[in-house]
Amino acid sequence: MLWFRRDLRLGDHPALMRAANEGPVVALFVLDPALRATSGNARLAFLLASLRSLDADLRAHGGSLTVRVGKPDSVVPEMVRESGARSVHISADFAPYGAERDARVAETLGTVPLVRTGSPYAVAPGRVTKEDGNPYKVFSAFYRAWRAHGWRGPAASDPSAVDWVAADGDGVPETPLAQIPLPEAGEQAAHRVWQKFLGSHLAHYPDVRDRPDLDHTSRLSPYLKFGAIHPRTLLADLTPDDETFVKELAWREFYAAVLHFWPSSAHDYFQPRMATMAYETGPDADEMFEAWASGNTGYPIVDAGMRQLLGEGWMHNRVRMITASFLVKDLHLEWTRGARHFMHQLIDGDLASNQHGWQWVAGTGTDAAPYFRIFNPVTQGKKFDPAGDYIRRWVPELSALEGRDIHEPWRRAAGAPSGYPPPIVEHAHERLEALARYKSVTSSP
Ligand code: FAD
Repeated sequence: MLWFRRDLRLGDHPALMRAANEGPVVALFVLDPALRATSGNARLAFLLASLRSLDADLRAHGGSLTVRVGKPDSVVPEMVRESGARSVHISADFAPYGAERDARVAETLGTVPLVRTGSPYAVAPGRVTKEDGNPYKVFSAFYRAWRAHGWRGPAASDPSAVDWVAADGDGVPETPLAQIPLPEAGEQAAHRVWQKFLGSHLAHYPDVRDRPDLDHTSRLSPYLKFGAIHPRTLLADLTPDDETFVKELAWREFYAAVLHFWPSSAHDYFQPRMATMAYETGPDADEMFEAWASGNTGYPIVDAGMRQLLGEGWMHNRVRMITASFLVKDLHLEWTRGARHFMHQLIDGDLASNQHGWQWVAGTGTDAAPYFRIFNPVTQGKKFDPAGDYIRRWVPELSALEGRDIHEPWRRAAGAPSGYPPPIVEHAHERLEALARYKSVTSSP
């Protein structure tokens, strides 16, 4: 049995090759209610579409995907009994929940082995350590060691050479979900997106990757999240000139490794003293949070980002940093609150990248940006969305504004256009407040 999880593809799939070596293969996916709880409708809809695509690909080779809802430690042994499978093959999961779940499943399977081959990473979390065996806490050092470690080339998994077992029934559930426009799901779509990026934008990536108005990053994150394409496949197409892009893939690997070594860092402050800082709570804080989450802070680049998140289930990386910084350093709310909202909305929502992306911005994590580095939302908007095209795309109330006005609509003689809120806080003031709060924890012994 091949139990698919974050590896929803047939190409470059070492676990598939290993399963196929043993005989006929039955394909399973388990919709686990525990994982459903952290995911909003957009990611679930993208997952189901990815499963449908995988099922279609399997059918083209004479197989099919069995999808069952339930706890994996019940469903997997049940399927093993029904199918008579002699072993269960998986790509290893290194995130805290997944690792524990797999240990439980292995136990309930008894004498039927749970065989782990490959992982969602070019280098499995845990492999790259310092010489003394300790994990890296700093990206640049990790990156050097990760590159020196190297990775394998793509695995030559050939689905047409597999003796697939087609199962009746148990197809992908047709769940009616509130829909927003989602990218096309599946392995072939992932390859199309990658090829288009290679041909059109990779060469300019170092110059344009911070520009949300141009939108020229790869947009591969939802596919990487569900394993529709493997990072090894991407790395094999890259050359030494593509260092900037390789580095971004390495951030994903770094955060997965950090989460593997410090599983509690998904929810706890990586730098514990930062948990003692004063954060806002109560009804006023809730109101601030709502304004932020709905894209009504009065700061155009922040609102554009938060509305992109609601409208697409995705947000540009630069704007993730700006909006996260605004929540923590302008509104003085805990990063965990913002991270939960992101995790719920993002179609690429990934525990390691999300929680550590947040901790980085909040100054509480690995490689933490120094606390005095506080994004000014107006300056950031002017720098990375110079003509305001990104803002205009997502904040229609501002669509008639140009030049400086679109970044600071409150400064117009006529004030902000009707329907658009005034700034909920004054950045210059909140910046000083944030510095004072950080100082109180960083200067304490
Ligand atoms: P590209 O620029 O084309 O990069 C290629 C790939 O490299 C991405 O798909 C991603 O897998 C990886 N990558 C790039 N930047 C980062 C990074 N900073 N950290 C980790 N991996 C990176 N990424 C997620 O995949 N899931 C998340 O839940 C997530 N949450 C984030 C939360 C915050 C607060 C921040 C600041 C960043 C977060 N990121 C997350 C990282 C990054 O924003 C996205 O990976 C990126 O925007 C995806 O767009 P892309 O595929 O076009 O990226």
